[in-house]
Amino acid sequence: MPAVEFRFYEELNDFLPRERSKRSFHVDCARDANVKHAIEALGVPHTEVELVLVNGESVGFEHALRDGDRVSVYPQFEAFDVRPLLRVRTAPLRDTRFIADAHLGRLARYLRFLGYDTLYRNAWSDRELVALAVAEQRILLTRDRAALMHRALTHGCYLREDEPLAQLAALAQRLDLSVDPARAGRCTMCNELLAAVAKSEVADRLLPATRAQHEQFWRCPSCERVYWRGSHWQRLRRSVDAALGLGAPGRPKPRAVPSGDRLR
Ligand SMILES: [Zn+2]
Repeated sequence: MPAVEFRFYEELNDFLPRERSKRSFHVDCARDANVKHAIEALGVPHTEVELVLVNGESVGFEHALRDGDRVSVYPQFEAFDVRPLLRVRTAPLRDTRFIADAHLGRLARYLRFLGYDTLYRNAWSDRELVALAVAEQRILLTRDRAALMHRALTHGCYLREDEPLAQLAALAQRLDLSVDPARAGRCTMCNELLAAVAKSEVADRLLPATRAQHEQFWRCPSCERVYWRGSHWQRLRRSVDAALGLGAPGRPKPRAVPSGDRLR
């Protein structure tokens, strides 16, 4: 069996037991083990890895390990410093779309608020989540590292944070998510793109105060909830902007297509 030396960098150490964290260690790998299998056997999901060096050369996940190899494994941000080396994953997904596991319902709503297509249903099993992520080319967001080790999965993101806004901040930083005011908002309940609707069409469903104070409305084509930029929307906007490091006290906040206030 090949004896291989590993060193994991930065937050990848969170997946390792203390005695292997932030230091080099030796492992007897399975015969014919490739990089991906060896890394996952140590508890690190391959979706969290951005760059692997074997004896100083960047390699792909399928690279076969040999006796005496030295393997350095980097997460995304650390990998920036060692460009233009080959990365294990050659192409980003064309559109940034997500599927969130059962623990990430509030994060899913924040992403929909920002206009990101995000599937979420708390009844999906790991197998269903992975199958949908692969079939629809979505990034799997999960707090379950076992789900990220599924062979078919190419794009996933492990969320370490407990708090949904902190999860959003971490995700935005990791994927360099943009907040595009031109991107249409989505229904936070069912992920459909919101469509502008004339006030006259929804006026009979509004409370008098809402009718008096707002002129712009949007409607979900699926569940028919009506949205406007009320106080709930403003609060959500401020929370999301703060999490993403946008906006400053005393300055106008960036305007985005709304979702947030709605009729239940
Ligand atoms: Zn809806």
